[in-house]
Amino acid sequence: MPERLFDELRKRNIKFKPDADIGKISSLGIPATALVLVEPKDTSELITVLDLCCDKGISYRVIGRMSNTMPRGERYPGVLIRTTGINRCRLRDGRVYAECGCSLSSLVRLGSEGGYGGIEALYHIPGTLGGAVYGNAGACGTEICDVFISGRVYYPKERRIICVDNEQMRFSYRKSALSEAEGVFLDGELRLVEKSREEILSLIEAHRIKRQNQPKGVKTLGSTFKRAGDLSAGYYIDRAGLKGFSIGGAEVSRVHAGFIVNRGGATAEDVLRLIEHIKTRVFECFGILLEEEIQIL
Ligand SMILES: Cc1cc2nc3c(=O)[nH]c(=O)nc-3n(C[C@H](O)[C@H](O)[C@H](O)COP(=O)(O)OP(=O)(O)OC[C@H]3O[C@@H](n4cnc5c(N)ncnc54)[C@H](O)[C@@H]3O)c2cc1C
Repeated sequence: MPERLFDELRKRNIKFKPDADIGKISSLGIPATALVLVEPKDTSELITVLDLCCDKGISYRVIGRMSNTMPRGERYPGVLIRTTGINRCRLRDGRVYAECGCSLSSLVRLGSEGGYGGIEALYHIPGTLGGAVYGNAGACGTEICDVFISGRVYYPKERRIICVDNEQMRFSYRKSALSEAEGVFLDGELRLVEKSREEILSLIEAHRIKRQNQPKGVKTLGSTFKRAGDLSAGYYIDRAGLKGFSIGGAEVSRVHAGFIVNRGGATAEDVLRLIEHIKTRVFECFGILLEEEIQIL
């Protein structure tokens, strides 16, 4: 079955890699391969790949930088469609138009060069616009939903592109309409506000300092769990005495209990077992059931 998909991709000159090592591209760095990794260079190639997968009944998942996503096991048995090559963006009249694979930091930089800001808090989130829209990413009081104007979403089963506005995206805490349906975010527009370059740079620095309570230079997916009520999951995990607790190579960060880190040699199974252990302990201690923020393929 994949051979026929490979032929179609070759015919259309779309970049792909069979048996791709995806351990290298996920921020958690656990060893895994995918049946095939496809890297479209623009939204029209992305749509073509999605259509091919649907036609051939092959399962797929669209990914950005995999900074919030880990594989479930050693092999993802479908097509991983990575959007990082789809990254055109431009600034006009205080609006940023950007494709799904643009990094959030590049959008902050683009705005700052033209004297527009308002999204500095997103600078240190290491993902793409597509990943950020999917999960309404945010930090330090700014979420994507605060600046999202409109976008184009492709629904592969219906073969339809739908133009959506902010309301239609039904953003809520770490959720959007995309987390519930099978839409693929193609591109969209964000609203920025006039700001001097100096002010933007100093805000970026201030946000960096605020994040100093997070582990640095480690393999992680950021916060493993969503906030529970008013308090962070890390608060409960810490109070449950789990800071530094590990299973295999997966460890609850000693710096910030909200993060699981790969301290070397972690497998997907280690991480999944650690997640279950944390959920059980926090539930036993506080009666709170933590919900994963990270995505598991
Ligand atoms: C060190 C570190 C710090 C972090 N800090 C923060 C933070 O402060 N705030 C925060 O919110 N997150 C944070 N994260 C998590 C992560 O960076 C964000 O969730 C980010 O938005 C994910 O983007 P991505 O491109 O890596 O998405 P991926 O991990 O590749 O994908 C995430 C989800 O989005 C889906 N997706 C990706 N692209 C598309 C698309 N075009 N259309 C439809 N679905 C798509 C994927 O299928 C998957 O379900 C952090 C992660 C790390 C490693």
